[in-house]
Order: sequence, then C-alpha cells, then structure tokens
Amino acid sequence: MYQHYGQPGSESGDGRPGHAVAILSVQERVPGIHIVDVNTDYQRLWGGSREEWLGAFPIVVEQEAANQQIVAQLGDELNASANGDFEGISGREVSRRHDGSRRHIEWRITAMGPRKSSAMTLVLTQRDVTEQMEKEAKLKRLATTDMLTGLVNRSHFDAVLKSEVNRQNRYARSLSLIMLDLDYFKQINDSYGHDVGDQVLVALADLLKSNLRKADCCARWGGEEFMLLAPETSLEQALRLADKIRCAIKHTDFPIQGSVTASFGVVEVHSQESVKSVMKRVDNALYLAKEKGRDRVSTGGLLEPAKQA
Ligand code: GH3
Ligand code: MG
Ligand code: MG
Repeated sequence: MYQHYGQPGSESGDGRPGHAVAILSVQERVPGIHIVDVNTDYQRLWGGSREEWLGAFPIVVEQEAANQQIVAQLGDELNASANGDFEGISGREVSRRHDGSRRHIEWRITAMGPRKSSAMTLVLTQRDVTEQMEKEAKLKRLATTDMLTGLVNRSHFDAVLKSEVNRQNRYARSLSLIMLDLDYFKQINDSYGHDVGDQVLVALADLLKSNLRKADCCARWGGEEFMLLAPETSLEQALRLADKIRCAIKHTDFPIQGSVTASFGVVEVHSQESVKSVMKRVDNALYLAKEKGRDRVSTGGLLEPAKQA
C-alpha cells in the first residue's frame, strides 16, 4: 500500500537512486518501534522480503551501534516534542547495503499523520547519495588540482598557505616556504617545442612529489614556478630540502639534452607575519637566486648558504 513512496529510480531500473521507505509504528515508547510496511527499494537496500520486515525493528543504518543510537535519538526527540509537533530527525551516514557494498545513505524520519496519545506512525525515508557525493568529491578535486601536473593549483595553495600561516601564528610552530622556478625554461620550449616543455613540467612535478612528506603541500604556482609549503620545518631544514631537490633536478634525465636546473627562494615564516609579507620575502629570495647566477638556493638575506654543489 505504501509502494508509491518509492520514487521510480535506479533500483527500479532508470539509473536514478530511489527512496527506500519504511512505515514505522511507535507504541508508547521507542523500544516498541516496529515496521508496518516497506517499499521495494527498502527491500533492495537491506535485503529480505516485505513479509520478513513486517513487525521487525527498522534499519536506518547497517551498523548496529549506530542504528541503536539513532533510535535512541528518535526516542529523545519524540519525548521532547510530546506536546507539540515532531519535526523529524535526519542524517547522512556511510553504511553497508545487504549485498556488502559501502554506500552513502541520507535518511530522514518524520511523523505521518497526527499523534495519538500512546501510538504514532512515522515514515523513514532513505536515499542512496553515493553517486552525488562522488561527483561532488570529483568536482572538488578538479577545482583544486593543476590539470597538467596533478599538483595542487594556485588558488588551493593560497587557501592552504593562509590556514598554515594562521596556525603558525597561533601555535608558534616552524613553517617554511620554498619557491622554485626553472632556469631558462623558455629556451627549452623554443628548442624542443611546447609539448616537450610540458613533459619536463610533469617529470618535475613527479620528482617534487617523491621528495615530499605527507604534511607538505606542493603546488604549481604558475607556468614553470612551483611552491612547497613545509610545516614543522625550520629554515635550516628547508634549505637542506631545497638543495636536495635542486641537486635531484640537475641530475635527473629529462626528455632533453643536457640538464635542467632550477632556482630556489626559501624563507621561514616569522612569528605574527602576514601571508603577504611571507610571499614577498620568498619572491625576493628567488629573485636573488636568479640574480646570483641561477641553479642555486637563496634565503633572500645576507647569510646565504655557503656552497652550492
Ligand atoms: P628564468 O631562468 O629567468 O626563469 O628564465 P625562463 O626562460 O624560465 O623564464 P621566463 O619567465 O622568461 O619564461 C617562462 C616560460 O615558461 C615562458 C612560457 O612559454 C613557459 N611556460 C609557461 N607555462 C607553460 C606550460 O604550461 N607549458 C610549457 N611548455 N611552457 C610554459
Ligand atoms: Mg624560469
Ligand atoms: Mg617563471
């Protein structure tokens, strides 16, 4: 009789998720809750036949403890609204279907019809939102990723930098920033073509990824400029890391003759320093590395690292 609650959906064959629906009866207290009807999408979601579900305890989510918690929450809400309208409860959980697949389920329990003194009827609706969540996650990934290299893009790096600098200001932890720019990249493009230039950028991004720690954030900042933000890293450690990467780039076989080199600016974020100031300092440091002949690391200050191999 309640089958019309289930939207015709993927489960019904046209690719769209349907709503699983169970009609629940509550007698006096919530532990006395039981199913009085289910639609076909509910049976597809949780298995079993309609007859098997009649009189049974409802499944909102597969995990037993979480399910008990939701039912307890329902009891609390019903008690709290004993003299007024029950507005319903809802949530979104990761749950296993009866076939074992992990799905994101959005659920809602609302009242059906008026409340009678000791009994009431509720409607539980559940919607599989896995595809929607996956699409959202994919869009988010696309919005934060540089398409050529797979590194974080500039706008996302901006956000990460802002939040890390704020964190540094609050907790006074060391935080360092490295900016690198390939040397004479225009010549590589001019000599070998733009596609080979792109291959060099992809290979460089892979090299950077393999030199990162989990907490580091590496971004493609612009054409052939990259940023590396290293939390819990002092200036001295960042200088060592930058020089290690500089050497690795120089000795990597890129798809061109001769070696590719890069210049580096390295700074450690000062206490209470603004993002703008950090960016200016790292940019100056990189400029100095270029000025001094490229293929080197600079802190932008008077005390430069002594030797460059
Ligand atoms: P410098 O040592 O001073 O950095 O010299 P440079 O030639 O690397 O610097 P410049 O800024 O003059 O040139 C950067 C070049 O990077 C110019 C541009 O054509 C190239 N470029 C920017 N984005 C891309 C890209 O996505 N792919 C390729 N292949 N080249 C790019
Ligand atoms: Mg360059
Ligand atoms: Mg550049």
